[in-house]
Amino acid sequence: MAGIASEAIAVGRRQRAPATSRSDGERGDRPAARYIANVTDSAALLTVARDQVLAEGRGLSEQQLAQVLRLPDDDLPALLELAHEVRMRWCGPDIEVEGIVSLKTGGCPEDCHFCSQSGQFTSPVRAVWLNIPELVEAARQTAATGATEFCIVAAVRGPDQRLLSQVRAGIGAIRAEVDIQIACSLGMLTQDQVDQLVEMGVHRYNHNLEAARSYFSQVVTTHSFEERWETCERVRESGMELCCGGLVGMGESLEQRAELATQLTALAPHEVPLNFLNPRPGTPFGDLPVMTSGDALRTVAAFRLAMPRTILRYAGGREITLGELGTRDGLLGGINAVIVGNYLTTLGRDPAEDLALLGELQMPIKELSRTL
Ligand code: SF4
Repeated sequence: MAGIASEAIAVGRRQRAPATSRSDGERGDRPAARYIANVTDSAALLTVARDQVLAEGRGLSEQQLAQVLRLPDDDLPALLELAHEVRMRWCGPDIEVEGIVSLKTGGCPEDCHFCSQSGQFTSPVRAVWLNIPELVEAARQTAATGATEFCIVAAVRGPDQRLLSQVRAGIGAIRAEVDIQIACSLGMLTQDQVDQLVEMGVHRYNHNLEAARSYFSQVVTTHSFEERWETCERVRESGMELCCGGLVGMGESLEQRAELATQLTALAPHEVPLNFLNPRPGTPFGDLPVMTSGDALRTVAAFRLAMPRTILRYAGGREITLGELGTRDGLLGGINAVIVGNYLTTLGRDPAEDLALLGELQMPIKELSRTL
């Protein structure tokens, strides 16, 4: 399961899509006017958020998040500034850098409608397996960027014993040559599989919720939200760090976006990767519009105000949704982690560009933890 970058993934260096006057979230079936009475006083909402989240470290409620997501563009600078203050206060200045590699790409039996790795669609990603020397080389290149985390990803419903054996061999080979923490994203897990990954020394496991519970059946039909949730709980209880995020811009309402943030908050993951849909040709969501940069940045800030202490990572889709300027705005608006290099099926930004931007913003890269 290609959760960490999902398949929101971006085609590198494409131009940012023009903003539309209509919010993505208004395609949902709930009335847009529902919270208008509350958000007409944007200043009051931001004051409440400042008192509650910045001062006390208590995340916003689902209803408050929906109000944040409806703030007008004029209030975006103040919202991002507050989200950045929250991140600095409760997480500190460090940025966590991670690289990902696909051990098995394409041919997945599941039907996540955003994903070009599903074998059920006509999208052009063929099934490919990586060998161990290639895996080690990818880890070495990731470590050379200063990244502390290297995530091994496979496009599967869940791992079979053959895949787990390959992961075990790959982790052993990486450990012998590269100093980096290893994460995995291999789909849904049984308790025995969780135990095996713990025993291999996997530091963090990624499994995204992808969408809010109320919208999930519009996104995936081959497995349920509850199955995903169960894997996340097993991981969290195992001692591995849980990395669990989702995708926005899939036609969900703003309320459902707030619902996703609230359900993630309830799971209490160590890290939340935030993906923006990059509509991939041949998938059921291939014709959806790219969400506006304003909506994407409001989502970044809202997720930070929901989860003040959590690592919030830019994952797939930021290049097409936000471009260079928006990437910078998000890093100054609540984001404190990035994926460097390419995603699973599309190109990301040149790592040197991201690292130069972090240097320019005077954001130190988090160092490898020796205590985990
Ligand atoms: S189709 Fe498969 S690889 Fe793609 S997101 Fe769904 S589970 Fe992951």
